[in-house]
Amino acid sequence: MSHSPYSWLSHSLDTIHRAHWYRSVQTLEGLPGAIASLRGQKVINFASNNYLGLAGDRRLIAAAREALEQYGTGSTGSRLTSGHRDLHRDLERSIAQLKQTEDALVFSSGYLANLGAIAALVGPRDLILSDEYNHSSLKNGAILSKATVVTYGHKNVKELTEKLQEYRKEYRRSLILTDSIFSMDGDRAPLPQYLEIAQTYNSMLLIDEAHATGVLGSTGAGLVEHFQLGKPELIQVGTLSKAVGSLGGYVAGSSILIDYLRNRAPSWIYTTGLSPADTAAAQRAIEIIQTEPQHREQLWQNIAYFQDLLTRHCPQIAPIASESPIICLPLETPKQALELSQFLKTQGIFAPAIRPPTVPTSRIRISLMATHQREHLESLVDGLKQKLLYVC
Ligand code: PMP
Repeated sequence: MSHSPYSWLSHSLDTIHRAHWYRSVQTLEGLPGAIASLRGQKVINFASNNYLGLAGDRRLIAAAREALEQYGTGSTGSRLTSGHRDLHRDLERSIAQLKQTEDALVFSSGYLANLGAIAALVGPRDLILSDEYNHSSLKNGAILSKATVVTYGHKNVKELTEKLQEYRKEYRRSLILTDSIFSMDGDRAPLPQYLEIAQTYNSMLLIDEAHATGVLGSTGAGLVEHFQLGKPELIQVGTLSKAVGSLGGYVAGSSILIDYLRNRAPSWIYTTGLSPADTAAAQRAIEIIQTEPQHREQLWQNIAYFQDLLTRHCPQIAPIASESPIICLPLETPKQALELSQFLKTQGIFAPAIRPPTVPTSRIRISLMATHQREHLESLVDGLKQKLLYVC
């Protein structure tokens, strides 16, 4: 019994290193944008979820600064004690208006919004159906809820139906969980079919619009708006940290749902309210998303241009089928993904390698932004061509 109870940590880290799964941070300097500085090296940034470029927008910075001056840095407590400000309610009303729902509730992150909503809505007597590629926050929310979790194949409508047919009757409530745009593949959930299935099997449906808000739909509301589904009965979760350019998360839905979550969602009740600066920045971003469609239009032009460049110049690369600003290039091993990412960095391009266990297979994840110029996209394709000369 002489060795430390913590000695397993270094063994575990060794295993992670050997598998090329080790993760470390990259330090970005300056305002977030299409060009970033990585410890002094200027790079074209394809790593940020800042899809509309709003995280560095002067108007968001001004809104945050004003809120800081007026309300201070921290919100000082849970929303139910001392942590609630008018700013929070204003933001909730704006989110509900964007999403065309009766109400919304702002959480301190998108991750916490998923944990809280799922844990509040189902319990040990209930059933969760979850896409195998769902985000970690949905998966961990399901575990936290103690419901029975049944995983269905990625976007597999038939399998989802079969599993509901098989299990639904044994459980009190049922909840289907899905990403809207999948975070590590960039494809979209078949939402209209899911709504039909949810209705048939008397199941709740929660969609995580983290990567679609600001990106899809005529006013930027997300996949629900994209499909023009009117005001479907479902639970919409999202983040304020991607296209919205700030920090925080939300749930949008009926007034009853939101009222219930205020009373039952542990990750809302027992955590400090979102900071005034983040809240004000998100509020300003939502106004911009609704009134300035040109950023979204530019983003989609960039997506089309890049897809076209890739097909013409690198026909042998088969990116994972994407319908979003997230475009992933598959690699056979984690080592290859790391090597390609490192090579691109030597060419002034920042595009991260995503490896297991985050995803089942390794890839380079490219995140396009409205603020990328055509020459940025051309440089990325040039970089890929150089490294993958044998396939391009
Ligand atoms: N859902 C999805 C699909 C995500 O990709 C993320 C962030 N990576 C989250 C939720 C969590 O959002 P946040 O960063 O605000 O915690």
